[in-house]
Amino acid sequence: MRSYQLFIIVTKEIELKVGKLGKLIFPIGSYVYTGSAKKNIDKRIERHLSKKKNLHWHIDYLLNSDAVQIINIKKSQMTECNLNKKTKGTIIINGFGSSDCNLCCKSHLKYEEN
Ligand SMILES: [Zn+2]
Repeated sequence: MRSYQLFIIVTKEIELKVGKLGKLIFPIGSYVYTGSAKKNIDKRIERHLSKKKNLHWHIDYLLNSDAVQIINIKKSQMTECNLNKKTKGTIIINGFGSSDCNLCCKSHLKYEEN
């Protein structure tokens, strides 16, 4: 497996400072985060599920919030960018999770109001 997606729900509006992106607002709704890990993808997913960790990736900041739940996880053989591109939803935060993206995704976090 090359990439994974975290299906996330935000249960109340969150305002967060996310590293260099600065202060961001995450409205209530469903989100899909697409990521990849070069070596051990299960270990990376395990890390996302753990609440105790240093905040390194953009997604760590969001998952650290009490108003956030991961409701599903999927793994894929597609590259993270291709997988991200075929995921529906809108981009509300430019640059989120896509700092080292070479296919010019605007964001690896997609949002759907529900
Ligand atoms: Zn990308």
